[in-house]
Amino acid sequence: MPENLTPLSAETKSDKSITGQVTSHGTDPDFKEFVHASPIALYSCDQRGYITYFNEAAVKLWGRRPEIGRDRWCGSWKIYYPDGSPMPPDTCPMARTLKEGQAFESAEITIERPDHTFRRLLVFPRLIFDEKNIIISAHSTLVDITGQKQDEEKQAILTAIVESSDDGIISKNLEGIITSWNTGARRIFGYTEEETIGKHISLLIPETLLQEEDMIISNIRSGKKIDHYETIRLAKGGREVPISLTISPVKDSRGRIIGASKIARNISERLHAEQLINQSLYRLNTLNSIGKAIFENLDVQSVLQKVTDATTKLTGAAFGAFFNNALDEQGESYMLFTLSGAPREAFEKFGMPRNTDVFRATFLGEGVVRSDDITKDLRYGHNAPHKGMPKGHLPVVSYLAVPVISNSGAVIGGLFFGHPELGVFTEEHEDLVSSIALQAAIALDNSKLFEEVKALSAKKDEFIALASHELKTPLTTIKGYLQVLDRSEKEPVGKLFINKTLNQVEKLNALISDLLDISKIEAGKLRLDKIDFDLRELLLEVIESLQHTNKTHRILFHDDGQPAKIRADRQRLEQALLNLLINAIKYSPKADHIEVWLETTGGEVTVRIRDEGIGLSHAQQKKLFTRFYRAEGAFRIAGLGLGLYLTKDIIDRHQGRIGVASETGKGSTFFFSLPIK
Ligand code: ADP
Repeated sequence: MPENLTPLSAETKSDKSITGQVTSHGTDPDFKEFVHASPIALYSCDQRGYITYFNEAAVKLWGRRPEIGRDRWCGSWKIYYPDGSPMPPDTCPMARTLKEGQAFESAEITIERPDHTFRRLLVFPRLIFDEKNIIISAHSTLVDITGQKQDEEKQAILTAIVESSDDGIISKNLEGIITSWNTGARRIFGYTEEETIGKHISLLIPETLLQEEDMIISNIRSGKKIDHYETIRLAKGGREVPISLTISPVKDSRGRIIGASKIARNISERLHAEQLINQSLYRLNTLNSIGKAIFENLDVQSVLQKVTDATTKLTGAAFGAFFNNALDEQGESYMLFTLSGAPREAFEKFGMPRNTDVFRATFLGEGVVRSDDITKDLRYGHNAPHKGMPKGHLPVVSYLAVPVISNSGAVIGGLFFGHPELGVFTEEHEDLVSSIALQAAIALDNSKLFEEVKALSAKKDEFIALASHELKTPLTTIKGYLQVLDRSEKEPVGKLFINKTLNQVEKLNALISDLLDISKIEAGKLRLDKIDFDLRELLLEVIESLQHTNKTHRILFHDDGQPAKIRADRQRLEQALLNLLINAIKYSPKADHIEVWLETTGGEVTVRIRDEGIGLSHAQQKKLFTRFYRAEGAFRIAGLGLGLYLTKDIIDRHQGRIGVASETGKGSTFFFSLPIK
């Protein structure tokens, strides 16, 4: 007998009253109508199982109208046991009831309807006997329990979800009494269900946070949900657990709030992870900023100070220091270079000589020394002349030392860290400091190179200054003799040659002066000797002298007649004007004139020099004022590319502005403005 069939008790089995009722009412048209219209599905079969009657509710439930006298048992529907396995039609409850001659209390089956939908049914088959107690037929009531089953399944799923959740799911009533407690809650708080159900929720709340419960309950009473409220709760034994709480009101079937369900998530791991992330971020930022600082900075002292400060902070050391691998004035090796977290005097008391065994290992390139308790190190405190460490020595217990090794392999120095407590430095600290030491070594190598380049550059400037002076002396003599010769020469050809030579000497002189000026600018030694004068006068003088020596171009001067008093270095401004005017002539070989304007507006005086020469492209204009720059079109014209660089420097030093407007092949207008006194 299948498990789902439960035999009826003896009296009910042969209950003739049922038979009597059916037979007596069988002819009653009202009763027939009542059965037919009943919302409960009913049908009957003869003793061989052929369907003899069914009502409309049965048709609806089956989804098909059976054929009287043809369909058997359960209407030849597909039927299944509650576990889903198929049930042969001749073993269906109706068939078995007829075959075995005994009725059953109820049987649970699942039917598949013609449209392939499934329904869960409770079947109540009953036998009908004649007067001789012989089975003449059977009838059955079908009760659709699909909805109820679905609810049960849903409930079972929900229970399984609640039980398998990692979160603690707890419910309580409005008085705060715990009414349910899942496995997650047990894991988080350590209490079993028996230990908590019926207890007040304050069991889990730290004393200082008890007022939170009032807030929670008042929210719940007013139907409000609380989302992801982060707080602290107490686990069994008083351990504090950081949790995130989501609390929702629980309502009864009439919608009244009767309690609350709480989901408590243990956020210790998340908080720990956040802490780790923040720590890493802080480290990354510090590394980044040290990296930037040390590569932007070429000064050894400040590079090392930054490195020492940052690494002391990152390792959590009580103090840190960088010792240079060098001798100091007293012949003491390993000079203290930079220090962080301790006064310098503390290190002065660092045993003498400093090359103790522990310390020296770093400078010998033996790698990183890290110790949780350096006082236990055999190399510690056994160095002559001391027995033990000298008095006043910093109380180092945790010790970390990282060598700073140059690209060439030489040990530049070492970074040392100490802490008075045990086991402060970790492998991570070791890695961090090692990577910073590597960057620092590169920066130190660079700064050494930079110092060398600076020294070389100073030597070069010195050389140029000396060479210019040496070149100028014989030139001055040559010039003097040529002038004497010029005065005594009567022959026009001779005079012409002397003047041409004088001209070239003048050019050479100017070139040497430019070179000398450049080296002065580089060395920051170009001095200005400022006086008050009128720029107009100077400009007119320069034009006049230039016009005198240069016959190829007429210099046309335009003037607004305003005073142009300035305070400036007259000689340097003459140099600037000459540079611009000579360039205008030089770079307009096909033109016969250049134009000059002098204008005063808005507290400024502006000189504009226009030529109709080769012009300059936009790209060329951008580079024009840099040292040794010569535009492509200028290569057939003599020059060194120094004049404009010098001119700009002179104007800049007078708080002026200089610029150009030009177009290739269409000439250029150079201008500069200076503040009027
Ligand atoms: P140099 O004339 O000795 O080459 P400058 O510094 O005076 O040096 O000028 C730099 C470059 O600027 C010149 O080589 C030339 O290419 C360009 N330049 C200067 N003045 C003019 C101008 N008036 N017209 C066109 N190009 C010019």
